[in-house]
Amino acid sequence: YGSTKSSVGDLRTGEPYNKFGSPIMSEQPEEHRQHLSHSLTEPDIGSATSSIHAAEEQLKNSDSNLVEMVTTEILQQGPPVDWSDIAGLEMAKAAMKEEILWPILRPDMFSGLATLPRSLLLFGPQGTGRTLLAQCMASQLGAAFLRLSGSALVTKWLAEGDKIIQASFLVARCRQPAVVFIREVDLLLSAQLSEESPVNRLKAELLMQLDSILTSTEDHILVVCSTNKPEEIPESLRRYFTKRLLIPLPDGTARHQIISQLLSQHNYCLSDKEMSLLVQRTEGFSGLDVTQLCQEAVVGPLHGIPGTDLSSIHPTQMRPVSYQDFDNVFCKFRPSISQKELDMYTEWNKMFGCSQ
Ligand code: ADP
Repeated sequence: YGSTKSSVGDLRTGEPYNKFGSPIMSEQPEEHRQHLSHSLTEPDIGSATSSIHAAEEQLKNSDSNLVEMVTTEILQQGPPVDWSDIAGLEMAKAAMKEEILWPILRPDMFSGLATLPRSLLLFGPQGTGRTLLAQCMASQLGAAFLRLSGSALVTKWLAEGDKIIQASFLVARCRQPAVVFIREVDLLLSAQLSEESPVNRLKAELLMQLDSILTSTEDHILVVCSTNKPEEIPESLRRYFTKRLLIPLPDGTARHQIISQLLSQHNYCLSDKEMSLLVQRTEGFSGLDVTQLCQEAVVGPLHGIPGTDLSSIHPTQMRPVSYQDFDNVFCKFRPSISQKELDMYTEWNKMFGCSQ
């Protein structure tokens, strides 16, 4: 998608000064390090050393099964994500670079800021790339990426959810710099919880961890949370998010980018007019909706082939994906977000967001 590819590198061509530089670079795969080399300078995490040592000591005394679970399930090992992997969202990307990443990477140039940004709330419809954005920030910072889910914590893991949150932040401290991403955070912070609700233990633990991150002058940890119900976060807890950014549905250009990117991996034949029609017909779709539509359409050519021939057919013998393949699957997809919900996000953004 490309236009913003230069990422944070531009600002960082001068004096190397990277408090967020990665102490885990040596553990990362070669291709990951190559990808990051354009945006990272020499690691310098001097100020976090004592915090890392303290966290390592604590980790030694923690439940080893829990730590194992966090390192295998919550600490993510996926490939790095670049800004260009995320279609559209130019305003949100610019705000993230300028207001979060640059101050973290070049605190010497942003010394006028009272505190470094340490927490971010991405709100808006689901399936719009909020997880991708959080992953991208971790990649840009050369940081470890830990991913927690509010719904998994309050259902599957409720009994030990508070311990999982605690262990996740502990691992983040050991592996810092780190980005901790929590999706559906409203489920953990909701004002609706009764005194006896077991979720209250999770809420208390999360707030304690956030307090500690927000007040620490040593740790290099950024907490990114996402929600599609920002109104569920009580007023008194909004202050935990230094920045609050609306992540909207993809506009026409972004939908065009997502469709083109997915089609580019296949043999296809679409005129410019048909492509414009697809962009029009996906108005109101989330990025995830558009992706799923394309994934269904590109298997269209397989449907006409008798099962007996499928095993032997060569990809080059397949007919190209056509507009008809999209037409055939459109009936399965509807915009997953109502206008009423979209208006609510706009209102909340006007009152409490950091973008227009
Ligand atoms: P969210 O966290 O907002 O619910 P995700 O970041 O998990 O959404 O996106 C889900 C999937 O939808 C992604 O893996 C990607 O395939 C697709 N997607 C969503 N938004 C975008 C976007 N802006 N650019 C490219 N792909 C997108």
